[in-house]
Order: sequence, then structure tokens, then C-alpha cells
Amino acid sequence: MADYYDILGVSRSASEDEIKKAYRQKALKYHPDKNPGDQNAEQKFKEAAEAYEILGDAQKRAQYDRYGMAGVNGAPGAGGFEFDLSDALRTFMSGFGGFGGFDDLFGGGTRSRRRADRGSDLRVTLSLTYEEIAAGVEKTIRVKRFELCDTCSGTGAAKGGGQITCPQCGGSGEIRQVQRSMLGQIVHVHECRNCGGTGRVVERPCRTCHGEGRTKVSKEITVKVPAGVAAGNYLTLNGEGNRGRRGTRAGDLIALFDEKEHAIFTRHGRDVLLTANITFAEAALGTTVGVPTLDGTANLKIPPGIQSGHILRMRGKGFPELQGRGRGDQLVRIQVIAPSNLGDKQKEFYHELLEVESPIHDSERYTKFSG
Ligand SMILES: [Zn+2]
Ligand SMILES: [Zn+2]
Repeated sequence: MADYYDILGVSRSASEDEIKKAYRQKALKYHPDKNPGDQNAEQKFKEAAEAYEILGDAQKRAQYDRYGMAGVNGAPGAGGFEFDLSDALRTFMSGFGGFGGFDDLFGGGTRSRRRADRGSDLRVTLSLTYEEIAAGVEKTIRVKRFELCDTCSGTGAAKGGGQITCPQCGGSGEIRQVQRSMLGQIVHVHECRNCGGTGRVVERPCRTCHGEGRTKVSKEITVKVPAGVAAGNYLTLNGEGNRGRRGTRAGDLIALFDEKEHAIFTRHGRDVLLTANITFAEAALGTTVGVPTLDGTANLKIPPGIQSGHILRMRGKGFPELQGRGRGDQLVRIQVIAPSNLGDKQKEFYHELLEVESPIHDSERYTKFSG
């Protein structure tokens, strides 16, 4: 981990304002929305957030200045100070807001802004197989969300009834409570529950939606998953979230992607890793095997004399690049399997083999232990 000041590109004497500005610049540049699928950008985005989390806080910064990493270990991310993408996004949102609804998505943050003019976001997780990720896929999901009430067309009012100023908050949409404490008066401001922060209520509420202007329905939505996504990537479907109260616009639907574990493939970025088990004879003489890949079986030529542990590369058989043209490779690690249950005839052959094979010379039999 580099120095936090270096990450943000500021001097050690930078003011609070300079630090905030520097972080904003980096975060906007490397935001995952702007760099879909770019692991490097995501890493930079996370690092910047992590740095800002420390340097943006006077107390944590002082500790960091004095003790370095030891002073801040366990601070935001706890346990070894691992910052993940959702932490980084949260830092970004709480620093600058403006991404309405995202605090819902990551289940935290503060709801300080009034969002009465918009419905909340919905979040779904889509588990994808490697094959689906490689080819891209259309997924149909069922969500329960608020939609415009048909009875009142979203006004929330029964036929002939209009809107009046909310009697609870007097139209401000806020309720203020004053509390006395040792430190003086503390004013708590929260959203008016009666009008949901809008300041207006209907005279006679619609019976179907009880004045909300929206009803909860189950809905099928198709999500087009582009090829090459990775766990943690997400797609925002604008306006596919919950409809707001009384006809206000809908929030977004955020589809977060996850990867299902594969029986034989392991994903490593764009590459696919796999082990191929072959016999002594196959290793000695060479062979061609049909190797499963993300898009069907492909022939792989194994050269004679291959050693256990050798890795063969099948070019272009990996995952496609998200929004790009390239494809990763499939890496096949060769493992030579010794036979364990020899029949009589096989035993004979192996004895013969022992007699005719070129023995390993003493000077080559022992080599340094290596992982
Ligand atoms: Zn209604
Ligand atoms: Zn009110």
C-alpha cells in the first residue's frame, strides 16, 4: 500500500480543502460507472476512498501522520483495513452525495437529503454461471415494486377530492423537535411521516392505495447482462425501481452480479484456469485431448515429453473483455498421473519399461525443493 498522500497526490501539509478536492478528482476519474469492468480503475477508486477516509478526518490523519499505517489499522474497514468496493462507493456518496438512492443500495449511509420527489432504488443480485458471463445473457427476474396506482392515476386522491396542506407539518415536510440537554437545545429535524416530506396530503385518500398514489405489484423484468462482467459489477436500470409517492418518478433498479462457482473452471481476471490429468504414456509420447472451454470442447495438442506442472495456453479461450474486443486465455496445467491399480499385463509392461527406459542419472535425480 502506497502512502495515502501519494495516492491523492497532495503534499503532507495539504489543507482539508485540498485533500477533499484531490479525492473528488480521483474518485470521479476512477468511478466504476465511468470505467466499467476496469479492474485497475476500480483499484484506484478504492485506494483513493481509503486514503480520503483517513486524510479527510482530522483525528485519523493526525494518527496516520504520527504512526503511519499502524495508527489507522482497523479504522474503517477493520480486520486488516481491507476496503472493498461498497465501502469505497459509500465514502464517495457520503463525501459528495448526488447519486440519489445509492445509500439504499449499500445499506448504510445517512438519509440526510430529502428524496420525496423520487421513489427508492431496488437492488437485486444475479448469480451467473461462467458460461453465461462468457456469452452474455438475458435474465428475467421477478421483483416486487411500487407502481402507479391505477385507481387514482397516482394522485392518491379519491374521485373529487383534492390536495391540502399537510396539517402535521404545516406544509414544510419536516417535523422539528427541540430537546433540552446539558449542552443547550438540540433541534432534531426529520421527515414528516404524514405527508412523506411533500408537505401536501390528499383530502380524501384513494381507497386502493390509501393516498400513496402507488401500489405494490409483482413484475417481470428482463436484464441484459453484457458478456465479460465480473462479481461486484452492477448495472443500473434507470426508472425500474420503486415509483415515488403520488406519481413522482421511479427510482432505479440496480442489478448486482455474482459468479456461481464452476465445477472445473477457475476464473482469474479474463483467463480461465484448468488442470488436465494425463498418463505417463501420453506425457511421454504426446497426444491431443479435447479440453472443455467456456464455449464447447476444443482440441489441445500436448507435445511429447511434457512435464507435470507445465502450463499450456489456449489463446482466446478465456472470458471476453467487458465492452472490449479481446478475450482472455485458457491456461491448462498438465498433471501426470501415476497408475495405482495395475493389472498383471500392465505390470509386465511397466517392468519391461523399467528395463529399457533411460534412468535418471544421480546428478539429476535430486534438485532443489520448489513449490
Ligand atoms: Zn390510488
Ligand atoms: Zn407533513
